[in-house]
Amino acid sequence: MTRLSAITPSGHAQLGNYLGAIRRWAGEGSPGDLYFVSDLHAMTVSYNPAKLRSLSRETLAVLLAAGIAPDRVFVQSDLVRELGALSWVLECACSYGEAARMTQFKQKADGQGVVRLGLLTYPVLMAADILLQGADEVPVGQDQTQHVELARSLARRFNSTYGDVFVVPRAVMAGTAARVMDLSDPTRKMSKSTQDSAGVVFVLDDPDLVRRKISRAATDSDNRLEYRPTFQPGLANLLEILASCTGRSPIEVAEDHTTYGELKEAVAEAVVAELAPLRAQALEYLDDPAGLDSIRAAGAERARERGKHILEAALRMAGVG
Ligand code: ATP
Ligand code: MG
Repeated sequence: MTRLSAITPSGHAQLGNYLGAIRRWAGEGSPGDLYFVSDLHAMTVSYNPAKLRSLSRETLAVLLAAGIAPDRVFVQSDLVRELGALSWVLECACSYGEAARMTQFKQKADGQGVVRLGLLTYPVLMAADILLQGADEVPVGQDQTQHVELARSLARRFNSTYGDVFVVPRAVMAGTAARVMDLSDPTRKMSKSTQDSAGVVFVLDDPDLVRRKISRAATDSDNRLEYRPTFQPGLANLLEILASCTGRSPIEVAEDHTTYGELKEAVAEAVVAELAPLRAQALEYLDDPAGLDSIRAAGAERARERGKHILEAALRMAGVG
């Protein structure tokens, strides 16, 4: 069984990415699982090429540093030729209406001056990511379920029109992990692409910067130190972060503290301790560019090899190639 998950290098990996996804990928993954850095997906909105290249490397280093086995990871653009070819085949199996119906497209297109065609078609590229690797399951949050459904429809449609080639993937809801909120605005999810990074703890932030960001986290004037997410979202977020770093429950950790100041110190120390080994290991990978390159090249080769027969069969059945 193969499960496929990805992280887009649209910014530096942040604490939520780690606690909610990467740490679990490293801890719970089964031997067939695959993880990739989806750099092609970062091109759907305005971006800086040099920055994207360096963020892709950094994100790969973070995945490896978290303990994901090197033979389970790859960078998406290393397969750009294969994915480009398969995307075209799948675009020709997808209707315009299906693509335009994607909720995420409608939301993201809404805020853009110029809407890149890639923003419309990227769910088809995502289908190519999934189908090329023959993934059975794709763990997703709510916002990506529709995209996996599209991959499923395209696989089924191609299989019934041209011949059985693709594994039909299933979306599986990623279990209820901590959803880390922005420290400055706890009504908003912590995100790596947020412009104002004051409330975002990046996993490679210097420990002192982490402490500073946490000490400035928005709380409230209600001096009750209890876990009440609806009424005290900022406080609840800090308790959840502390709980997630220490393997306890937010209600439990609330009982150990009496002032906000003391709690914030405990949260800062727990986060610094949780991130320390990850940060040290990631910096080691980044300090050895040749080593990282060779892991990356081997990952690309394996992923290409895995998708080779599927791509060849799909092209043949589609009457091309
Ligand atoms: P972007 O701003 O580009 O959307 P992001 O930080 O939201 O970036 P994604 O690339 O969308 O990150 O998601 C990568 C993984 O991290 C997904 O599995 C997602 O569920 C998880 N994740 C992202 N943000 C959080 C968060 N704040 N708390 C918990 N999990 C998160
Ligand atoms: Mg996101």
